[in-house]
Amino acid sequence: MSDVQAETPKIIQLSGGIWVRQEIDNIAWIDMGDYGLVVDALEHVEKADEVFAAIERDLGRVPIRYLINTHTHYDHVALNDAFVGRFGCEIINAETTEIGPTGKWFEASERRVLIQPTPGCHTDQDCIIWCEPDRVLFVGDIFGWGLIPLIAQLRPDNTQHLLETYQRLIDFDAKVVVPGHGPLATTADLSRWLEYFDWLVGKVSAAVAAGASDSQIIDEIKPPADMLHWWRFVARKHADCVERIAKSIRRGWLEAT
Ligand SMILES: [Zn+2]
Repeated sequence: MSDVQAETPKIIQLSGGIWVRQEIDNIAWIDMGDYGLVVDALEHVEKADEVFAAIERDLGRVPIRYLINTHTHYDHVALNDAFVGRFGCEIINAETTEIGPTGKWFEASERRVLIQPTPGCHTDQDCIIWCEPDRVLFVGDIFGWGLIPLIAQLRPDNTQHLLETYQRLIDFDAKVVVPGHGPLATTADLSRWLEYFDWLVGKVSAAVAAGASDSQIIDEIKPPADMLHWWRFVARKHADCVERIAKSIRRGWLEAT
């Protein structure tokens, strides 16, 4: 999918009771049977009316009872207040709700949905949402079509934690992976990113050891051919990954396995 196509708003229906409004920022509504559950709440408040109209069309009179934020960055919470005003729903995120490490299940007549904390990959508040019967996994900003999700610099402990969490996400064996931003993904894309990261650490380590400068390394290590179509990857994210990995390798925080 081209970047322009990926950034054109569209509503994608997944397995009967799940709809994703996919644009640069994604929001989803899930029919639980007795009530509706929403995942994430966009960046722009002016989209409220359009989103409410779409939800009404898809869910009819089913009331939204819960709105879950995968984390509380501004581009995931803008419509929180509007949802509370409209539906009186409860906001669920790491700030509002105590959620144990194994997570919290929402069960209703149509499906059961798990919210589970996966902190330390993008923010301290990261949560994933798993729609079990549909095998749909919402991962927030942990998967960013090539982006390294960690905001902090790559150190041995946080990098190890990130890679282990990716493996946990892969183990769900989801059919559809919904990222916080951009096109829908699959479990194969999560696996591909893990391979890419490992490959890139090896390539950059070798180049640093050979005495190359950062700009030489960025020039030399081209994005893999099978990832050229990844959203905004070639334009920005690949070079950003190379640069961040090189910085951590030069500080002795990261090494090839
Ligand atoms: Zn974020």
